[in-house]
Amino acid sequence: MSLDTLKEHLAPVSDLGAAAALLEWDQETYMPPGAAEARTHQLATLKTLAHERLTSDTVGTLLDKLEADAPEAELDRALVRIARRDYDRATKLSADFVSRFATAKARALEAWKHARQNDDFVRFAPNLQEIVDLSVEQAEALGYDGDRYDALLDEYEPGATTAEIKRVFGDLRQSLIPIVRALSETESPDDSVLRRSFDPERQWHFGMEVARAVGYDFVHGRQDKSAHPFTTSFSVRDVRITTRIAPTFFSTGLFGTIHEAGHALYEQGIDPALDRTPLADGTSLGIHESQSRLWENLVGRSRPFWRWAYPRLRQTFPDVLADVQEDDFYGAVNRVRPSLIRVEADEVTYNLHVMLRFQIETALIDGDLAVADVPEAWNAAMQDMLGLTPPSNADGCLQDIHWALGAMGYFPTYTLGTLMSVQLFEAAQRDLGDLGEMFARGEFEPILGWMREHVHRWGRARSAAEIMYEATGGPLSAEPWLDYVRQKFGAVYGVDL
Ligand code: ZN
Repeated sequence: MSLDTLKEHLAPVSDLGAAAALLEWDQETYMPPGAAEARTHQLATLKTLAHERLTSDTVGTLLDKLEADAPEAELDRALVRIARRDYDRATKLSADFVSRFATAKARALEAWKHARQNDDFVRFAPNLQEIVDLSVEQAEALGYDGDRYDALLDEYEPGATTAEIKRVFGDLRQSLIPIVRALSETESPDDSVLRRSFDPERQWHFGMEVARAVGYDFVHGRQDKSAHPFTTSFSVRDVRITTRIAPTFFSTGLFGTIHEAGHALYEQGIDPALDRTPLADGTSLGIHESQSRLWENLVGRSRPFWRWAYPRLRQTFPDVLADVQEDDFYGAVNRVRPSLIRVEADEVTYNLHVMLRFQIETALIDGDLAVADVPEAWNAAMQDMLGLTPPSNADGCLQDIHWALGAMGYFPTYTLGTLMSVQLFEAAQRDLGDLGEMFARGEFEPILGWMREHVHRWGRARSAAEIMYEATGGPLSAEPWLDYVRQKFGAVYGVDL
């Protein structure tokens, strides 16, 4: 009885959130620039209404009742647990704070777009300062046991702590830097083929074909273009992706599409019975990223995948690829090279980009780094980790949208997800047999089915730790990813890592 009342009360909260997400999707895809100011107000209004409904006394009273007399079914108990989490987090933030933050984020997004385009960090700095101040205010209002950053991290990776991530990242960094160095000292595969002229229209269609082949459902989704690719969901039945196409760099479009399709497969695979409840979402961004990285790298950059995909790609670009063999193309998409842009980084160096951002974010939130010093800190860390100095802030600290979106605490989940992806892949392979043989035949249903069963369908009903333990039999670990990298890139480069 109370459970049904709670569901009925929370369904409009989901609806308002979905409507806001749709406006944000539009802001990134089709909205004319002159609509920015109006959109700021519309988003603030929707989010305030959702916040008011979620934090009403009705929800508190219902949750008290349901906790005293807990429902039996696992999904019902999960609903109560997650609704409690959302309610507690939301009641700690005032309606006034939520509205101020929404307004600041919308303003920051517009400022970031201009700043990035014109390589003008000074233009963005006051907005970034506002985001940092509001993030600190948020962390203090939410509370934390260890580090202040924990409170922000908890929004994206429930249960994870700053101290734990510092430890895992420290270990990773220690093993990773020698691997990157060894690869840099070895002759690389030639990847100049990726920089030939690939007709954007054909790239678009090839990406759509691959997304469809791996199981992305276009009846309940669509792909559009945006400056920064993303996936968004308005319902289990409407999960959209965006991509960007670079006419003279092939990897941007295809791997961006596969990455976002991986996120979308997760959202499309959530049990439809959970729609319009707080459970109809990814359980953590780490788990979310495990799915996108799995499809992008463990499938999309694997040798067997290209056995299936390369003849198709060659049919799409017969002139461009006439002189390129399958093996050479596989080598090209797996070239490891320290680079400036995170979203275009290879599998191996990618995690260094994430560690750099984590380092800067935690320093900003702890008050150990001033906003004005971010470009300098960024460039120093780039030099330290990747041996490069960005020629401009547009290619440095202005490259990512996350801070403009107010998403402090988000970045580390990329690396957590990367580590999880290999653990999940290996668990699936233990159950299903040689996945590579299937990929070479264009068979992606078995691995998708396994992920649906063990990861997707649960939505937020199981935590990241529960999913990892149930699916892999153990906790999160960096070793499987490191072993995978040593094996795969040792073979690509013909070296012993
Ligand atoms: Zn992603």
